[in-house]
Amino acid sequence: MMCRNNFALYSTRKPVASVECPSYFQQPEEDMAGIVIIGAGQGAGQAAASLRQQGYEGAVTILGDEAFPPYQRPPLSKQYLSGDLPLERVYVRAEKFYADKEIDLRTNTRVASLDVTAKTVTTESGEDIAYDKLMIATGSRPRKLSIEGSDLEGIHYLRTIADVDGIAEAMKSAKNLVIVGGGYIGLEVASVAATAGLTVSVLEMEDRILQRVTTPEMSAFYHQLHTGRGVNVMTKTGVSGFSGTSDGKVAQVLCGDTSIEADLVIVGIGIIPNIELAQEAGISCDNGIVVNDHCQTSNADVYAIGDCSNHPNPILGRRLRLESVPNAMEQARVACANMCGEDKVYAAVPWFWSDQYELKLQMVGFSSDGDTQVLRGDQDKNQFAMFYLKDGAIVAVDAVNSPREFMICKQLYGKQVDAEKLADPEVDLKTLL
Ligand code: NAP
Repeated sequence: MMCRNNFALYSTRKPVASVECPSYFQQPEEDMAGIVIIGAGQGAGQAAASLRQQGYEGAVTILGDEAFPPYQRPPLSKQYLSGDLPLERVYVRAEKFYADKEIDLRTNTRVASLDVTAKTVTTESGEDIAYDKLMIATGSRPRKLSIEGSDLEGIHYLRTIADVDGIAEAMKSAKNLVIVGGGYIGLEVASVAATAGLTVSVLEMEDRILQRVTTPEMSAFYHQLHTGRGVNVMTKTGVSGFSGTSDGKVAQVLCGDTSIEADLVIVGIGIIPNIELAQEAGISCDNGIVVNDHCQTSNADVYAIGDCSNHPNPILGRRLRLESVPNAMEQARVACANMCGEDKVYAAVPWFWSDQYELKLQMVGFSSDGDTQVLRGDQDKNQFAMFYLKDGAIVAVDAVNSPREFMICKQLYGKQVDAEKLADPEVDLKTLL
């Protein structure tokens, strides 16, 4: 691997950063293949930038199967779908950035296989690309329905820019939207579509929406929010099939004995991590690609980050596979530092956010870790924070339109607090720090 303090030996490139690299990551001259990143999502984009910020001077190649440079997925189900955010602002960095930093960004390039002995990846077009170190940032794909009628026109999934372009076009003429799945995808799309004037139904198999990620109280709050905006939220409702028109377009969603009119269906029933490349290469996988606290897989030259990785969290004391952007970004930074010879541990309290209507929900930690709930603020005014305590210490918060409470919770995480003071909006949270 190359870095600035051995720059003259290896490269005629211009220095791309002014950070000095520790001498212990100087590599033998024959290590010239550089770093290959499989996947071109937000984590991959961050990784390429982090490598240059670290002072890494070797070749950096990003291989992505979509047509776009690394982009942010969170706005896709929100501001990009509503048309409030143009495409260029969805990109993590302008395309020029990659050329300027001598990052070889290859779009429309799908990797077919990986050989960890030869240290090569092979693309679907048959090209072999050598690496010194490899990062797998392959993310995840939507779980698909395979029931009667699921290939009818008008049934969409939401994961990529191309998916949302298709949905946005269909929404222009659609009247009755049925959303299958009451998770974040389903509810964020429901808020955009209801605001745009469509008749919207959300079908959730569980007995409450957001069941996988939050408490019954928060589920009830969001259920009420959506029904208050005219969305028909149906829980304990599984989809048994779809019926279509004579020209193959979806017309009804079938739920056992009942049916719902639909000229547009969006399915958001969870994701599947893309681990197959790693698995077939013999890298250890178990609910994701297993990595250590340095984001390193069972093969020392291969790292994995983001939705597809399963990592140990030393703060929570258990392994996690997180489907969140902050996790992917921070893992990218840590993995790159370690690829460049540093010794960094990934240890962060997970956090998430969701925008629905004019409400911003920000979450730290997992509410399921708590044994006590403390409400601060006013749910009727859509401005409150629900703190979760375990043995008197803060372990999570769900903050609705309460960015201050969210920030303070990040700082108070794991600390003992006085629950009465926490609940009292007159008490300045800073005094609890
Ligand atoms: P999700 O959060 O896993 O929610 C999917 C929901 O659909 C679950 O409640 C699931 O129930 C339910 N479901 C599964 N099969 C169903 C069926 N046949 N009929 C009706 N309901 C069904 O997944 P998602 O909403 O599709 O989101 C995909 C990924 O993107 C997730 O990782 C999510 O966290 C992420 N995302 C995050 C944000 C954010 O953080 N703001 C926004 C958008 C997307 P079971 O749990 O029983 O399967």
